[in-house]
Amino acid sequence: MYWDEFCQLLVGADANFKKIKEDLSQYKTFLSKSSLYIFCGTVQIPFKRGFTTDDLKLIAEIIVPSEFRDNLLCLNEVIERFEAEQKALSKQKKSDSVKKVNERLARAKNELDTFPTQELEVEDGVTIQIIYPSIDIEAIQVIKGHRLVDQEKTCQCRACVRTFLS
Ligand SMILES: [Zn+2]
Repeated sequence: MYWDEFCQLLVGADANFKKIKEDLSQYKTFLSKSSLYIFCGTVQIPFKRGFTTDDLKLIAEIIVPSEFRDNLLCLNEVIERFEAEQKALSKQKKSDSVKKVNERLARAKNELDTFPTQELEVEDGVTIQIIYPSIDIEAIQVIKGHRLVDQEKTCQCRACVRTFLS
């Protein structure tokens, strides 16, 4: 799946989770303490509605290795280095060096803003699941049965708590 599709998936899961919370108001407290996670193999990432290229460190593990991913990782490192330099220089007040670092940082950030994210591919096995604060079987059974839960991936037996939104 490509980056844009992944971002749409996040927006969709977020909206569905909100709708589930509204529909199942009898479990309001339980659901308000529940949260979404992104799973891929052994990787678990707390859900965020919109990941940007700034979040690459967080999600690098679920991005298929490619020249684009490497470039983005590299760009992130460069920005971190310039930011550290900027911080260090602010104490010394050497205006010429400060100006140079500021310019380089601005250029790198601009490159990040215009990064061709459409080239980034997210691993195929990515799922979005609800993580519960405790094992309340009755509540979980009702939530799993909601029409916006992915019924193909979610097992309805009482022993399974895994609840897939996608
Ligand atoms: Zn089961």
